Amino acid sequence: MRRVAVFGSTGSVGESTLDLLARRDDIEVVALTGGRNVRRLAEQARAHNAALAVTAFDECYQPLKDALEGTGIEVAAGSHAVVEAAHRPADWVMSAIVGAAGLAPGFAALSQGRTLALANKESLVTAGPLLLAEARSHGATILPVDSEHSAVFQALAGEDIAQVETVTLTASGGGLRDWPLEKLAHATPDEAGKHPNWDMGQRITIDSASMFNKAMEVIEAHEFFGLAPDQVKVLIHPQSLVHALVAFNDGAVMAHLGAPDMRHPIGYALNWPQRDALPIQRLDLAAAGRLDFAAPDLNRYPALALAWKVMETGGASGCVFNAAKEVALDHFIARNIGFLDMASVVEDTLATFAARADIAATPRTLDEVLAIDTMARDLAGEAAATRHRA
Ligand code: NAD
Ligand code: MG
Repeated sequence: MRRVAVFGSTGSVGESTLDLLARRDDIEVVALTGGRNVRRLAEQARAHNAALAVTAFDECYQPLKDALEGTGIEVAAGSHAVVEAAHRPADWVMSAIVGAAGLAPGFAALSQGRTLALANKESLVTAGPLLLAEARSHGATILPVDSEHSAVFQALAGEDIAQVETVTLTASGGGLRDWPLEKLAHATPDEAGKHPNWDMGQRITIDSASMFNKAMEVIEAHEFFGLAPDQVKVLIHPQSLVHALVAFNDGAVMAHLGAPDMRHPIGYALNWPQRDALPIQRLDLAAAGRLDFAAPDLNRYPALALAWKVMETGGASGCVFNAAKEVALDHFIARNIGFLDMASVVEDTLATFAARADIAATPRTLDEVLAIDTMARDLAGEAAATRHRA
């Protein structure tokens, strides 16, 4: 039996993970964690006969306890309990919490030498070097689950990274891709929250429309694969059938294709280092007919350009970038600021942070990361306030 823990099990990636786990008979679920969706978490814990169910929020303890009454499933609450769950023995751990809240549990799992399937891209953007060092020093393995990074990882199997010239991540262009530029500033959270190809959580879907998601993924690729900033490229590809391309120094380009279904990269990480059959719709290129590509227009996607700024600066800038982006997104969802204001808030925050602290200094501990995160959130809140709509 393989002991599995799923962090963020009630989310989009979490549900897809459980869908795959339910199809197997060699899985023992040691822990599931969620947020405020206690009813769903309890349903999942019962269906998968989990040993432990954790809600990240203290006030959700009693409802979760009540919902699991008589099942014998252990119940816990609070962010410390989520981290504690990462110390439980497990063979495979899915990190699918959204936001910087996913960092500490993933870090804890690595400190125990686990195999960590990493969907939480915020971890690598916020604290890439620290996370990789933690994995190295405890013999832990990080497997990328973000679809583009899983695609790159697969294209690199058996290859030497030193022979790689460039890595290209594709982007659908998001829900507002075909909007006229002058309308973009007025896009609402509902309009930005619809994705043409992928079915994902609300936050990442809005990040896809702004391309903050792709900016995060560029930084994620730079950190995880150790690529120089100018080795990472982005192409708009509306069909989302090609997920990434790796170009080698002999002129060969290895592309990864498949249906846009997160169960592929999740399943790949679950079966790694082997492959096994997955319930994914098979690619039919004749039916697709064509594959389109275009260079992204940085006037339409100002957030994307910030990724190269962050990679060039290094140090604390990834953490500042992520924290500011999360705050800007909160303000956009609350309709305090406009769609294009999000990139301005993050850019302003990077500048004010650099004026007050050494942004090029790399945080050495998780506590340092969290202190930078807190400071950046305060600065981003101020930056957002100056752009609040009248
Ligand atoms: P989601 O919003 O659907 O789910 C997030 C999960 O995190 C839920 O279980 C929620 O309860 C939990 N959560 C939220 N706040 C929390 C907190 N403060 N503490 C602990 N748990 C908390 O998100 P998602 O779309 O499944 O994305 C999860 C992660 O995977 C994100 O980092 C995202 O960028 C990444 N990712 C998602 C997709 C996708 O297709 N959805 C693809 C690639 C990468
Ligand atoms: Mg992705």
